[in-house]
Amino acid sequence: MSKVYFFPADAQQSMVNALPKLYDKIAGDFAVHGKRVAIKTHFGEKGNTTFLPPAFAKKICDIVRTHGGEPELIECNTLYRGERLRTENHIKLAKAHGFDFAPVVICDDGGKNWNIASEGKHFKSIKAGAKLKDYEIMIAVTHCKGHIAAGYGGALKNIGMGLGSRAGKLEMHAKVKPIFESAKCKACGICASACPANAIVIEKYAVMDKAKCIGCATCIAVCPYGAVGIPWSGTTHEEIQERIVEYAHGITGKIKTIYFNFLLNITPQCDCVADSGPVKMQDIGILASDDVVALEQASIDMINKAYGKDFFKESNRIEVSVQPAYAEAIGMGKRAYEIVKMA
Ligand code: SF4
Ligand code: SF4
Repeated sequence: MSKVYFFPADAQQSMVNALPKLYDKIAGDFAVHGKRVAIKTHFGEKGNTTFLPPAFAKKICDIVRTHGGEPELIECNTLYRGERLRTENHIKLAKAHGFDFAPVVICDDGGKNWNIASEGKHFKSIKAGAKLKDYEIMIAVTHCKGHIAAGYGGALKNIGMGLGSRAGKLEMHAKVKPIFESAKCKACGICASACPANAIVIEKYAVMDKAKCIGCATCIAVCPYGAVGIPWSGTTHEEIQERIVEYAHGITGKIKTIYFNFLLNITPQCDCVADSGPVKMQDIGILASDDVVALEQASIDMINKAYGKDFFKESNRIEVSVQPAYAEAIGMGKRAYEIVKMA
């Protein structure tokens, strides 16, 4: 049985002050001295107000510095259109949202991948942001809430989907190619110039050669008219969750990771959207563990218990036990947990 340390919800400063104690419990042989330490959180989409307040990630950066490490806030760009689609705007938004206390590193800048071998049922290789290669250790600082495609957005999704490159994000959502919408296309040719596989020709509108397309998703990012879409359909919610878990498995297999889950501001949708819906329950607190599977199972259980029924099924009609169950099945940890309450 894995230990999950729990500090109940309190005033924000009191929870911030609890982080060094939680860190000491889970750090074990997690040695940060002299290393660049990746801090993976979520900066919140423009307009979102329920993302994790930066005070928590700031304190974790302070803890890392106290132990002689160099914290860096890491992310990858998004697949969908928004302020976090491109590196420059993404960094600007992070700073505007208060994440200005450590360098912000967008790991898939320029669409570059780090291909990591995988033995899951969906992928033989995963595509993480290329700059992730620079880190040996990582702290996942995760806001737990619902999610429209995965049902639950916790630590596995923060790492798996969050640190997938744009091409990786596309293949987690669907094993198909982008969709070109001729009605929106202005035939400007920007996508064709940017396509690394020469898979696009401009006729009356952009036409993609599926046989040449390598699924890099660059065209989705560069089209100024929103004429290249993401094929959301064709993949079940169960498959998306399993793919996210395979990505998280691949990344944490290369980068030793410890985890903080924040069960605060729990909304039906995630921080990737401006309106993530109303906060649906009282704040629960902070969970911390070195076993991501136990941590995720405990987080889901505590949210459902606080809500009085299955919060995730009610919010998005998705069974989210898939995530910890599949993560356990592929060897990421154990679902059985013991909660250790911290004063
Ligand atoms: S996904 Fe990449 S390879 Fe495929 S058409 Fe778009 S830019 Fe070209
Ligand atoms: S960038 Fe967009 S609008 Fe321009 S040709 Fe490509 S699909 Fe059409």
